[in-house]
Amino acid sequence: MDASVAIVGGGISGLSTAYYLAKAGIPSTIVEARPQLGGVIQTEHVQGCVIEGGPDSFISIKPAAMELIRDLDMAGEVIGSNDHLRVTYVWKRGRLVPLPDGLQLMVPTKLIPLLTTRLLGWPTKLRMGMELFHPPGRHPEDQSVAAFVTQHYGAEAVDYLAEPLLSGIYGGSPSALSISSVLPRFVELEAKYGSLTRGVLAELKANKAQARSQPLFRTLKGGLAQLVTALTARIAGHATILHRRAVAVERTGGGFRLRLDDGSLDCAHLVLACEAHNAATLAAGLDARLADLLAGIPYSSSMTMALAFPDSAFPRPLAGFGFLVPKRERRRLVACTWVGTKFSHRVPTGTTLLRCFLGGMDDGAVLSESDDAIVATVVSELHEIVGFQAAPLFWRIFRWPRSMAQYTVGHPQRLAEIQARALAIPGFDLAGNAYTGIGIPDCIRMGKQAAEGIAKALCVV
Ligand SMILES: Cc1cc2nc3c(=O)[nH]c(=O)nc-3n(C[C@H](O)[C@H](O)[C@H](O)COP(=O)(O)OP(=O)(O)OC[C@H]3O[C@@H](n4cnc5c(N)ncnc54)[C@H](O)[C@@H]3O)c2cc1C
Repeated sequence: MDASVAIVGGGISGLSTAYYLAKAGIPSTIVEARPQLGGVIQTEHVQGCVIEGGPDSFISIKPAAMELIRDLDMAGEVIGSNDHLRVTYVWKRGRLVPLPDGLQLMVPTKLIPLLTTRLLGWPTKLRMGMELFHPPGRHPEDQSVAAFVTQHYGAEAVDYLAEPLLSGIYGGSPSALSISSVLPRFVELEAKYGSLTRGVLAELKANKAQARSQPLFRTLKGGLAQLVTALTARIAGHATILHRRAVAVERTGGGFRLRLDDGSLDCAHLVLACEAHNAATLAAGLDARLADLLAGIPYSSSMTMALAFPDSAFPRPLAGFGFLVPKRERRRLVACTWVGTKFSHRVPTGTTLLRCFLGGMDDGAVLSESDDAIVATVVSELHEIVGFQAAPLFWRIFRWPRSMAQYTVGHPQRLAEIQARALAIPGFDLAGNAYTGIGIPDCIRMGKQAAEGIAKALCVV
C-alpha cells in the first residue's frame, strides 16, 4: 500500500494532524492499533450521565483546542467549568481542608485566606510572606519542581500543594518533574520578579479583563468524544483509517516503509503521533540514538473510575469541585471530582457522579487489581473521606497503562536533542504528549504544526 502521509496514532494528536492536512488538501493514512479512534479521549453515556474515561476538559488559556472547535463549527457545544463553585479540598489529617482562595497552583495571592487556612502551618505562612523578597535570578540548570517550590515556599508547600496538584495532572512526583518543562511560567516569573507571588500578582493585574472573561476549563456538552466524532467525520474522504499496529519503520528511496502487524505501508512523510515509548520502537529503524531518547521519557499509568450515587446518599450536598489526597496522607485515591458541580449537562437531577483518579508513578500496580477489588477499596476510602455510607448505583473503570508522559528533570535538553534528530530525517515528525505539553490543546497544536510542516514541504501553503 502507498500513502503520501502516514500518521501512527489516532489519538487527538494524530487526528489533528490528519485534520489540518485535509484542510490543506493533503490526504493521509492514520494507523491506529485500537479498534476506536480518540486515544485516551473516551466518553460513555450511562443512565443519563456523561462519563469521561480519560480527560474531562481542556484548559482555556491555551488557544489551540478552541480554534479547532470553532473551525469544526462546534463552538455552540462548548461549556465552561462552573468557576463560581470552584473550591478544591485537600485531605489532611482526617479532614477535607479547602485550598485557600487566591491560590495559583502553589502561589498564594490573597493574604487573609493564607493566614486563616488550616492547610499550612505558621512557619510555611511566614515563609510565604518572606517570599515577596526573593531576589530575581535564573538557575543555570534545570531542577525539580520540589526543589524550586521548596526554595520559594518550603517543604510543606511541596507536600500539601505542589505534590497533590501535580499528581492530579501528571500522575507524577514533584521531586522528579522538571520545573522548566512543567511550570515554565514560574521560571520566567522568578527570573523577572524573584518572588513568584509578586510575579503572579503582576500578571493578574495585567490580565484582569481576560481572566474574568473565560472559564478556567472548557469541555463539550456531550463529552470530549464529540470532538473525536467531529474530526473523524471531517477527515472522511481525505484520510484512510487503518486499524493496525505499526511494528517497525525502515527507510526507502522515496521515504519510509511502515511494517504493520498485517501488511506494510509506504509513505513519503511519516508522523509518529503515538506515545514516546511506542515511537521509540518504530524510530529504532531510523536512528538508534533517537529511539533511546524517546524510550527515556517515562510514562505514568493511571486509572479513572466513575461512581454514581443517589443524592440522598449524602448527608449534605457536596461543596466545591472535589478533593486531592497528598502522598503523605495517600490511600489509593489520588483525586476525586464532583462531576455535576464542575460542569453542567453531565449528571441528571437526583444523581451524584464522582470521578476518581488513581495510579500515577507511585501506584501503577493499581491497574492490575480486579474491578471488584478496586471498587471496594475506592468506595471504602470515599466513605471515610467524604463521610457517607452507600453503595454505588453503577460504576465504570478505565485503565490507561503508560499514557501520561513525565517531563522529568533534564526534559528540555532531551527534547532539544530529540527535535534536532527528528529534523535531520527528511519527511519525519513527532507529535504527542511527550514533547511540548501534555494537555489536549498542546497535542492539537503539535498535530497542527506537523501538518503545516508537511504542507510546507509539499509547497501547498
Ligand atoms: C486519565 C487521563 C486524564 C487526562 N485528563 C486531561 C484533561 O482533563 N485535560 C487535558 O487537557 N489533558 C488531559 N489528559 C492528557 C491528554 O488527554 C493526553 O495527553 C492526550 O489526549 C494525548 O493524546 P495523543 O493523541 O498524543 O495520545 P493518545 O491519546 O495516547 O493516543 C495515541 C494513540 O496511538 C496509538 N498507538 C500507539 N502505538 C501504536 C502503534 N505502534 N501502531 C498503531 N497505533 C499506535 C494508541 O493506540 C493510541 O490510540 C489526560 C490523560 C489521561 C490519561
